[in-house]
Amino acid sequence: MGEVVRGLLFPSTPSSLEPDGAVTASQPVIRGLRALAEEVARLRPDAIVIASAHWVTTFQHYVSGATRLAGILSATEVPGESRNLPYDYPGDPELAWALVAAGVAAGVPAVVTTECTLPLDSGTVIPLRYVTPASDVPIVSISLCQLADLGEMLRWGRAIGAAVRAGRLVVQRCVGCGTLAVPPKAVCPVCEATQWEGAALGGDGEVVSFTVIRVPPGRLAAEAPYVIVVARMVEGVSLLGRLVGAPIETAHVGLPVRFVPPTDPAAEPPGSTFTPRL
Ligand SMILES: [Zn+2]
Repeated sequence: MGEVVRGLLFPSTPSSLEPDGAVTASQPVIRGLRALAEEVARLRPDAIVIASAHWVTTFQHYVSGATRLAGILSATEVPGESRNLPYDYPGDPELAWALVAAGVAAGVPAVVTTECTLPLDSGTVIPLRYVTPASDVPIVSISLCQLADLGEMLRWGRAIGAAVRAGRLVVQRCVGCGTLAVPPKAVCPVCEATQWEGAALGGDGEVVSFTVIRVPPGRLAAEAPYVIVVARMVEGVSLLGRLVGAPIETAHVGLPVRFVPPTDPAAEPPGSTFTPRL
């Protein structure tokens, strides 16, 4: 189980990069950022999820799922003032995947991106220089989707909160009758309602079917043979995933397994991974 310990609204001005020489108008911004830094240091969060108005995407809500967010920022908006700023933050792929799973379950077009060359923007890097000065808090960066209306943005925000509280394994649940849906559906097959919310699963299940992949897709050739299982979760829904952490001979119908959040987006199939439960 997790907790959203605080929601913070970060200001950002280019001159806040140089606190000693900043213009008078930026001094309140700098004082505010320093106050927020004290708050973050006191709370010691496991991760910071940051949505910057400077990272604008068109069709989908992107969530950075890279293991490390590093690069050199020259701000496109003010390249003369914010330039050649190195940054290097740990990522949190597990949290990124959980947020996207919750968003998709809520009907939000959310996707993970793991592009290591995708730069962070000035609206992310400049505040983070204050609030995590040691660059030691994992960062999950979220884009702002231009085509999202207010309703979608609210669903996305609620899904993010639900995913954090749920402990990261979230599926779709009908608001009308409570039916769980995997994969996500538009209309509930039981009561025909169209309102869905995120629902947390505990992570425990049992193998009800499995297959050993000996001739994998080319990019996974080095990993064969490996096992794909269908796991029936204790909540009643079934998930497809890969069995890890055990020899392939371990796989059998009835094997108790536990969900492991994916950290490798190239895994086949994408989504779930399971390990034997002792
Ligand atoms: Zn229903």
